[in-house]
Amino acid sequence: MKLKILWMYHNLMDLYGDKGNIEVLRYRASKRGIEVVVDTCTIGEEKDITDYDLFFLGGGADREQTLIYKDLLQRKPQILQALDNGIACLLICGGYQLFGQYYLDQDGNRIDGLGIYDYYTESSDRDHRCIGNIVVETTIQNQTITVVGFENHGGQTKNVSTVFGKVLSGHGNTFHDGTEGFMNDQTIATYMHGPLLPKNPMIADEVIRRALKKNYGDLQLDPLNDELENQAHYTMVKRILKKNS
Ligand code: GLN
Repeated sequence: MKLKILWMYHNLMDLYGDKGNIEVLRYRASKRGIEVVVDTCTIGEEKDITDYDLFFLGGGADREQTLIYKDLLQRKPQILQALDNGIACLLICGGYQLFGQYYLDQDGNRIDGLGIYDYYTESSDRDHRCIGNIVVETTIQNQTITVVGFENHGGQTKNVSTVFGKVLSGHGNTFHDGTEGFMNDQTIATYMHGPLLPKNPMIADEVIRRALKKNYGDLQLDPLNDELENQAHYTMVKRILKKNS
């Protein structure tokens, strides 16, 4: 079995160690005997997105988002084709915003998104950002689980049709609405850095499963020994929820 990951704008969109997500995917897939290929793609580089099983785009400050968005928009037909062919997407923060309609930054500059999903993002004022540890509840494979991460964004994302989860502690899509991220059959998009996957092994496996689906259909992955990962996860969940109770 083979898993082909395309890591977009690796040199620009990598806030708070988003690249750790790639390492976790590589590790957990290899443990199952899956051959993993990770290719990178940045501004001006030719890559056939339809050739991949997973599209990964991390977060970035407004500056990086401004630098990459035109290049990303040029790739829209290929991204749509790749989605049609069954590619899975993992999008973090700035990457999440760029799959929506637009992002209006703190200075009122508009960064057009791909418009693949209906949500849009507008910045709060300069002095107010959603910053801190966050715990979310979501349902994956009919199981309700917690997801833990770290968020730092000014953007307030609205009009999200299907959210990733419900916020137990922290902010999420906006300061107040209690929802976090976007999720549908192919895409998981979230404000959670940290990076997301080392502390959330069930999400890591869900991403691998979704990516493998393109070529191998629905399958269950062999369980791994997640003692350490779960310890990290629950230590953080307890610490964060206790602090806020
Ligand atoms: N620049 C965006 C915002 O502040 C995204 C930040 C990020 O990726 N952490 O909302």
